[in-house]
Amino acid sequence: MSFPKTILKVEEVNFSYNDYQKTLSNINFSVSRGELLGIIGPNGSGKTTLLKIISGILKPGKGNIFLLGKNLNIFSIKKISKYVSVVPQDTWIAFSFKAKEVVFMGRIPYISRIKGETIEDYRISREAMVKTQSLPLSEKNIQKISGGERQRVFIAKALTQTPQLLLLDEFTSHLDLNYKYEMLNLLKKALKEEGLTIISVFHDLNLASIASHRLILLNEGKIEKIGTPQEVLNEENLQKAYRVKPILINHPDLKVPQVIM
Ligand code: ADP
Repeated sequence: MSFPKTILKVEEVNFSYNDYQKTLSNINFSVSRGELLGIIGPNGSGKTTLLKIISGILKPGKGNIFLLGKNLNIFSIKKISKYVSVVPQDTWIAFSFKAKEVVFMGRIPYISRIKGETIEDYRISREAMVKTQSLPLSEKNIQKISGGERQRVFIAKALTQTPQLLLLDEFTSHLDLNYKYEMLNLLKKALKEEGLTIISVFHDLNLASIASHRLILLNEGKIEKIGTPQEVLNEENLQKAYRVKPILINHPDLKVPQVIM
């Protein structure tokens, strides 16, 4: 099956949790295959809400989301999960599954009730654990591993879903520097070689700048600026959104903006 170049189109999306406050206003953007789009913005600016809308967990009050050219509201949750996988900010699970069982859950959308799981499902699941260096955690209780280890297991689960679009919420927050680099390299390889597309929320502006092809800067539920890291991460935009005067330098190798204190 061939897929259109535009994976996702977000059109005039508005969203409110209640009657007295608008959480997202007039959100418009599209994402192309192979792109990593970073979402940045201060706490409460609507980053997680936007990811939840894209993954179909929340329905927009107004506006439309088009996934692979089709309106998201015609997809069942099972169908969405064949195309979109999510690594949430909070990966805590209330049940004591083994790590490998959590990863295997990524195959659920594909397993037929009649035929059951196949060798291929186990192969894909194991491969994702190898790629994310979580295979040594296979037999461990998901509740008894560190936050960073759990994050790697959840990225493996998301890859096991073999998505077209991967949604990440602060996926590096618990990762040590070495895993941060490795995960970034792994995802960049998947973007290039497997045609994966990624939308990721970042707290760390410097990582967002290094990792992303384009950035969306959210400010009070609106897009303050969308563009390349060079276009978005400047004094004027950051001051508007974060209300502090940042100092910006250019990364010596990568030539992208970096914010210093
Ligand atoms: P961010 O991810 O940028 O920190 P969020 O999307 O989590 O922002 O939140 C945006 C706004 O929506 C905040 O004002 C937050 O308090 C509010 N909000 C988030 N989740 C809920 C909820 N379940 N019910 C009501 N308000 C919420």
